[in-house]
Amino acid sequence: MRIGHGYDVHRFGPGDTLVLGGVHIPHDRGIVAHSDGDVLIHAVCDALLGALGQGDIGQHFPDTDPANAGIDSRFLLRRVMQMVQQSHWVVGNLDATIIAQAPRMAPHIASMRKNLAADMAASVAQVNVKATTTEKLGFAGRQEGIAVHAVVLLQPAAQ
Ligand SMILES: [Zn+2]
Repeated sequence: MRIGHGYDVHRFGPGDTLVLGGVHIPHDRGIVAHSDGDVLIHAVCDALLGALGQGDIGQHFPDTDPANAGIDSRFLLRRVMQMVQQSHWVVGNLDATIIAQAPRMAPHIASMRKNLAADMAASVAQVNVKATTTEKLGFAGRQEGIAVHAVVLLQPAAQ
């Protein structure tokens, strides 16, 4: 088996919608990013690439490449999953923690899990997403941005 960890942070900026786990969430701010700013999917991609020993998302999809401007991060996740499958691994399970003071994530967690499971060739039961605040401490607590930690386990694909 292989384990991988991913961590990503994005800053809030002007806008009225966040994208997290492919779910569009109305908010009084948006996310500053070269892509769609899906910090959850970016952390998941980094966890998968970490488990593969293949560096990080920035190496594979540089933010200096105009082709990646505004890109749907689910497309990036599916590209990373192709690498997983080509290396003969499957997802054992994913556990991700969103760290944000706002907006409330609870109403959107089920949709995030569904999207991630679909893109990761996994069942919803293999894909856990949870959210926490930081009791108003630090950058997340001051609502300056959102952080996500993700841990993934890969198992050998059945021959
Ligand atoms: Zn990111």
